[in-house]
Amino acid sequence: MFKSFSVVGGFSVPSQTVFIFGVMFALLGSLQMASAQAADTAKPNIVLILTDDMGYGDVGIYGHPTIKTPHIDSLAIGGQKWTSFYVASSVCTPSRAALMTGRMPIRNGMCSNVRRVLWQSSKGGLQPSEVTMAESLQASGYATACIGKWHLGHSEAKYLPTSQGFDYYYGIPYSNDMDKTQTITKEDYLNPRIGHYNVPLLENESIVERPVDQTTITQRYTAKAVEFIRDRAERPFFLFLSHSMPHAPLFASQEYLGKSERGIYGDVIEEIDWSVGEVVRTLDEEGLTENTLVIFTSDNGPWMMLDQHGGSSGLLRGGKGETWEGGYRVPAIFSWPGRIEPGVIGELGSTVDLFKTFSTITGCAYPDDRVMDGYDLSATLLKAEKSPREVIWYYQGQDLQAVRMGDYKVIFSLNEYVGFREKKTTIFQKALVYNLSVDPAERYNLAATHSSVIEKARGLIGEHRDSLGEIFDYLAPLPEDH
Ligand code: MG
Repeated sequence: MFKSFSVVGGFSVPSQTVFIFGVMFALLGSLQMASAQAADTAKPNIVLILTDDMGYGDVGIYGHPTIKTPHIDSLAIGGQKWTSFYVASSVCTPSRAALMTGRMPIRNGMCSNVRRVLWQSSKGGLQPSEVTMAESLQASGYATACIGKWHLGHSEAKYLPTSQGFDYYYGIPYSNDMDKTQTITKEDYLNPRIGHYNVPLLENESIVERPVDQTTITQRYTAKAVEFIRDRAERPFFLFLSHSMPHAPLFASQEYLGKSERGIYGDVIEEIDWSVGEVVRTLDEEGLTENTLVIFTSDNGPWMMLDQHGGSSGLLRGGKGETWEGGYRVPAIFSWPGRIEPGVIGELGSTVDLFKTFSTITGCAYPDDRVMDGYDLSATLLKAEKSPREVIWYYQGQDLQAVRMGDYKVIFSLNEYVGFREKKTTIFQKALVYNLSVDPAERYNLAATHSSVIEKARGLIGEHRDSLGEIFDYLAPLPEDH
């Protein structure tokens, strides 16, 4: 209690002084206790754990039969497990841009029909004029760290996490399969070698290792996360722990290699589960559990073109890069003991909503000078009330292909894989309609009897398009960038 008092008061004082303060504090009575606790929860810490390409079905509590995730599962059991939680894109860069800014990629320019994501040779990135959740939290007094994958720009310092609201950065700045040293075949993905991927490890703006020894990267991210929590400088903190995996190529440490029943993919997830356990244990040891919101989710669905090295979307159809549910619907777990109303939540939510929700919970500023796309999920989290979100957009690059409105999803066109690195786009003469409450696997097209649903979707899309204004593309190659 004494230690947490020093934290909530924002004091940086010697431990003996903290002890004396603590004794005084204990004597002051319940009124002061109540106000101190109010201050305590006024600025809770936030730990946002994001995995890369982990599918809806890849976590124990989301139904995987052989991947064991006891630490992730226990967060869900004590908190909320969401079953209709989405990302803004079925690939990395646009999904992450929306998460960070609370704006759809079509608004912040981080989606393209030329390049789906930023490549190592890309010159662009998330524009400095965008306001990230980290910038807002930082401005309201939070210590902030990004540990792991960034993938929102790296060609210039202005695009790096340290210029986008994070006090500290440690990680591989883009996907772990970039900087290829040779043509990588599917066979190479399935037999990964460190030397095939000359990816850098950055600490703040400096390269500290290249190529990265990816077998220990999950452990090293975890050590940095634990260190950041322990050395938090007596301020509230925002930790964005963004694992590079299970994006392929897959690597696990000696402790986890061969440990799971699910092969290397399961080894990777079980090591990430261990990492979640380490973060939770550190919060406990530091007396921070009851003042820390922990979120566990994924940036997009599983990369199924990689067979067993890609994950599973469980009962959902499709995966990464596709328009089906499996590309966009992800596991999402919220834990905040004593504050979150525990349960399984079937309401709609999105990573786009996290910024707005953090703003309500912490009091950090939320931009009001531009169109924002987030909804405040705090009443659902804290009181299990209905979510304000009613619509999910499914973009591929800059093309809007489908929309979910309540239970119904209407698909006007879709992308799906037909082979290794091979996708096709289908444009439907008459849209497809699915009732996702009855048919989450998108098997039974109701278009013949649901014309009014299609018309409603057309109307919504028209309104949405009218709200877009000028569209930018910060992912496409520049003339000198091949
Ligand atoms: Mg991804």
